[in-house]
Amino acid sequence: MPELPEVETTRRGITPHVNGRVVTKVIVRETRLRQPITPRLTSILRGQVLLSVSRRAKYLLFEFAQGTLLVHLGMSGSLRVLPVDTPPAAHDHVDLEFDDTVCLRLRDPRRFGLMLWTTSAPQQHPLLADLGPEPWDLRFTADYLNELAASRTGAVKNFVMDGHVVVGVGNIYASESLHRAHIHPTRPARRVSHTRYADLVLAIREVLEAAIKFGGTTLRDFTRDDGKPGYFRNELRVYDRGGQPCLQCGGGPIRQKVIGQRMSYYCTDCQR
Ligand SMILES: [Zn+2]
Repeated sequence: MPELPEVETTRRGITPHVNGRVVTKVIVRETRLRQPITPRLTSILRGQVLLSVSRRAKYLLFEFAQGTLLVHLGMSGSLRVLPVDTPPAAHDHVDLEFDDTVCLRLRDPRRFGLMLWTTSAPQQHPLLADLGPEPWDLRFTADYLNELAASRTGAVKNFVMDGHVVVGVGNIYASESLHRAHIHPTRPARRVSHTRYADLVLAIREVLEAAIKFGGTTLRDFTRDDGKPGYFRNELRVYDRGGQPCLQCGGGPIRQKVIGQRMSYYCTDCQR
């Protein structure tokens, strides 16, 4: 599933190819995504200049003068930049053609993605309005986490994976950042100290930045028909390393346990 780093890598990969260009053609081969694509999309977008591509949580925001196209990659979606004459393959549901030259193509085999047009302020859209801060937002601090956690009895891992608390901390990144911050994943959120939360804020940023950077080494894939976004696998210190020694303290072995229905990995020697 594309996580925040893959979405940000996608944004950085496609932006130079489409930004500032005019939509000359829209082809919708399948409208049935998680919500249906409006049949008006072709007439709405044709002739409009793409002003910017930004990201909020796992949504990409394609800003035009008359509104914003919100795109979510769901479970299996990808966006690639291809020459306009590239024949579509299975699951290539939407093409946005720019300047009759490049085609931005959405592929989504499981069709849990979204492509929605809005003329309102996108940050106020119902899908975005209630989201927590971005990990790099100045609001995302130890004070903020401490205050929110005071009323939470659940495990800290579930707390940081809650998109109302902070966006972008998926299962892998939660295990990795809690390990780096020396916090046991089942510790109740309200019993994590201010100091540890300060470490966690930095660890979340560090882990996500490393994942984005790793994606950055495979940007060329966005312009290839068989391209897939890069993954962060080789950089993982604790995730999927059950039974192996801890790379952080030399102790271990790394334990694995289901927390909040997701497999979690941790070291009982250096995470408390
Ligand atoms: Zn350890």
